[in-house]
Amino acid sequence: MRFAPLYPKEKPSSPPCPHKTSVNCDVLVVGASPSGIAAATSAARSGADVILLDKEMGGRFDHPANTFFDGMFRRAGLEVEREYVLHDLAGMRIISPGGCAVEIAAPGKFIDRSRFDSIYLKRAEGAGVRLMRGEAKSAPHSGSGRRVETDAGDIGARVVIDASGVDGLISRKEGLSPLKHPEDVAWAAEAVVELSGLGEERRFEYFVGSVSPGWKATFSPGGGDLATLGVFVRGHGRDVRGYLDRFVELFKKYKSGEYDVSEMKIVSINRGGDAIAALPGEIVADSLMATGAAAGMSGIAYAMRAGTMAGEVAAGAAAAGDVSIRRLLAYPRWWRREFGLEYRMGRASLLTLGEMGDGEIDRLAFGLAKRDLGVPSSSTITSSTISSSSSSRTALSAGIAVARSHPRTISGLLRNFIKG
Ligand SMILES: Cc1cc2nc3c(=O)[nH]c(=O)nc-3n(C[C@H](O)[C@H](O)[C@H](O)COP(=O)(O)OP(=O)(O)OC[C@H]3O[C@@H](n4cnc5c(N)ncnc54)[C@H](O)[C@@H]3O)c2cc1C
Repeated sequence: MRFAPLYPKEKPSSPPCPHKTSVNCDVLVVGASPSGIAAATSAARSGADVILLDKEMGGRFDHPANTFFDGMFRRAGLEVEREYVLHDLAGMRIISPGGCAVEIAAPGKFIDRSRFDSIYLKRAEGAGVRLMRGEAKSAPHSGSGRRVETDAGDIGARVVIDASGVDGLISRKEGLSPLKHPEDVAWAAEAVVELSGLGEERRFEYFVGSVSPGWKATFSPGGGDLATLGVFVRGHGRDVRGYLDRFVELFKKYKSGEYDVSEMKIVSINRGGDAIAALPGEIVADSLMATGAAAGMSGIAYAMRAGTMAGEVAAGAAAAGDVSIRRLLAYPRWWRREFGLEYRMGRASLLTLGEMGDGEIDRLAFGLAKRDLGVPSSSTITSSTISSSSSSRTALSAGIAVARSHPRTISGLLRNFIKG
């Protein structure tokens, strides 16, 4: 048995699991990123003996996500902590293909992701979670629970929570279809770049339209010289590097008046999937649950909230000795009450955006725009601003402005919302 806990726990909980494995627990969480760390912490705080397993544990995690809006954190019941914040942002600017900009006052953060992870991992450990390194291969039934086969030995668990990301292998192998619309995952390529002063800007910039079909290309300033440039593309396969290269060139042209863009250095490139419009499908079975991106619950903050729900339900089920699907269904019900409508609206909006041509997006943005940012364009722009202190008021004013400026968009939204 090569399996070595990184932080062994002195006292296993009782009663012991009925598995023929030398490592047992009540709840095993696979994947130590936002959803998995939150799931493990909440299960441990609810009294379960918990193992959090990740193939990168103790090594160098390579998690790409490093920005969020404060409103999402609040919505997920979390507090922003200064310790991991690298740069404060005042809001975002959405830029249409013709260069028409809509500004939204939504404060956000660019974070030091390694620091963020290590803070939350320490908290998990403090709650009693055992952190272990290993790659889970499958999680067949064993007794009333599961036996998780890993490259470092087997682990027995009453409940397994698959938090292994958008390609979440465990739940799929065990017969679940955790993404309702896997075809709508946005595939991303994001470059970490350095250019003197670029990171000091105070707004995210989202470029929409054919530059990054189906969703957005992003500029996220990270403070100082640091920024990221990314494309999140739906419906064009996993390899979106060509879109990133084109976006980087467009971005350089766009910023060439303000910076010496020939000095811009690409430090590294992250790739992966963002389950932004995929929605949760079947996410529970007997003694098995999926959460976070593995279950179509995307975004750092929302993945953490979903993980927290999963962990609490799993711990309650393990303690009650009933880990049947009937008991575990409390988790998706709880999630739907909190987030179901919002996710369906989000998906409908993205599908509607994906159906619009560049000209249509320009006309829509024209009705909402604050000012022309000077991106080479055939359209001429006038101004209006969407700005509000709360994200729901922002959404409402945006909705009203959209309805006024481009009524056809509303029917598209409704159609896609009904389709789910
Ligand atoms: C390029 C890119 C940029 C993004 N930027 C942002 C952003 O700025 N803000 C935002 O909110 N969201 C962003 N997202 C989305 C975000 O990454 C996800 O929504 C979020 O990470 C979901 O977290 P998670 O915990 O569910 O899964 P993940 O973060 O994907 O983590 C999965 C974990 O599981 C581990 N793992 C996988 N398979 C196994 C296995 N078999 N055994 C053991 N361990 C395993 C992995 O090592 C990893 O640690 C971005 C996505 C991409 C691809």
